Amino acid sequence: MTPRRRESRKETRRRCEMATALVNARGTKQGDKLGRFMDKHWDSLQERFEGDRTVATQFLADLAFVLRDAWDKGKWDPAEQNLERIFAAHPGISELRDLKLGESRIGPISKPRRFERPAFKVRLGHKIPRNNQPTPIFEPRDVLDEIAYAVLRAGSLGLLKICEGKSKGWSCTTPYVVADEGRRRFCYETCGDQAKAEAKKKPKKGRKG
Ligand SMILES: [Zn+2]
Repeated sequence: MTPRRRESRKETRRRCEMATALVNARGTKQGDKLGRFMDKHWDSLQERFEGDRTVATQFLADLAFVLRDAWDKGKWDPAEQNLERIFAAHPGISELRDLKLGESRIGPISKPRRFERPAFKVRLGHKIPRNNQPTPIFEPRDVLDEIAYAVLRAGSLGLLKICEGKSKGWSCTTPYVVADEGRRRFCYETCGDQAKAEAKKKPKKGRKG
């Protein structure tokens, strides 16, 4: 058994960026935001959705909607239920369909059955830092697990934010931000760069010029 390393900052940021991209994704056609998200992550997602990209796209569109609602209106119940469903084990529809009573399988099972277990694993003998509360260990099966984890983490730390670029009137396309750290005020897309550029333009205060 390999000891699990702690999540690195880089990893947190990558997960938060993916989560932010999904939460702000709209539309289900290729070429729009969700379409581009699907193009990028379909390799990782297809096992969960058993290769059905249409079902996957619709599910993610619904998920993004539910999550945005939680930001706006504090409707956490549906968001929590959906995140729980993502972390759950899925026996696989085709798996259940194929399994007939009294029939034995012929040949090797080629499909890696990652989704027979939930996203959290029970690890006995795993050392827990600081507190003595044993918790299951997060071991993601695909990017959707990572995204749900990023939202859960940010929600627990008060890091579900609205990009400040929006209130500045910038054309922000990802206002719902799953922040990786407390000091993040702008989204991962153009607003971060714009904020830096604005800061450079301003003369330094407090110094006589
Ligand atoms: Zn922004």
